[in-house]
Amino acid sequence: MSTASQHPHIRRIGVMGGTFDPIHYGHLVAAEEAYFSLGLAEVLFVPTGTPPHKDRGQVSAAEDRYTMTLLATVDNPHFKISRLEIDREGTSHTVDTLREMRHWYAPGSVVFYFITGLDAVLDILNWKEPEEIAAFSKIVAVSRPGYNPHRLEDLPSTIRRSVIPLEIPLLAISSTEIRRRVNLGRSIRYLAPWPVEHYIYKKALYHRKDGW
Ligand code: ATP
Ligand code: MG
Repeated sequence: MSTASQHPHIRRIGVMGGTFDPIHYGHLVAAEEAYFSLGLAEVLFVPTGTPPHKDRGQVSAAEDRYTMTLLATVDNPHFKISRLEIDREGTSHTVDTLREMRHWYAPGSVVFYFITGLDAVLDILNWKEPEEIAAFSKIVAVSRPGYNPHRLEDLPSTIRRSVIPLEIPLLAISSTEIRRRVNLGRSIRYLAPWPVEHYIYKKALYHRKDGW
């Protein structure tokens, strides 16, 4: 069993990283399921600043992504947001974020649960210092349509031993698909919370001439 369950005074902090361009129900259900299934004290949403894996020119302004994350999480008392990555200069790497967040708490008082979709976990060897990420946190691998959880067994044991697979209601929603729909003038109703939808239209996000 994990350290936190042996020591009930150790708080389990969920960390939900993402570009959130825009945030949608796939992200929110992942965070909510992790919160209840793993007995987390809270889930901290951390919108990325400059995402290392994405073309910078195609990512919306950090403030817009932060605002949409705020609009989507404001009604949930156990969801919080951190500006850590968007206020940091340069490229955002999960390992640096977790390393910095460790200093916010008294040594040994928290365990981080980094919540991420199967697609992202299966790509973790391409991230900066994946072994360190696994050392700093539990990695909660939530199910996502199209990704086979058996592939987690292919990960090196140094990483695999920190991974907690978690089945959640499967939602075939992605930010890419939402951007594409907005660009084509198609409905995104019921894919993301309505305040996010309204914000997208108000700020005229995702209207690229060359498409998405
Ligand atoms: P994009 O299409 O731009 O890559 P995305 O929908 O994958 O966007 P991200 O911001 O890249 O969203 O994802 C943040 C985290 O949320 C990742 O760990 C990703 O795997 C997870 N995630 C995103 N959508 C879902 C979903 N529908 N179900 C489960 N996990 C998801
Ligand atoms: Mg993604």
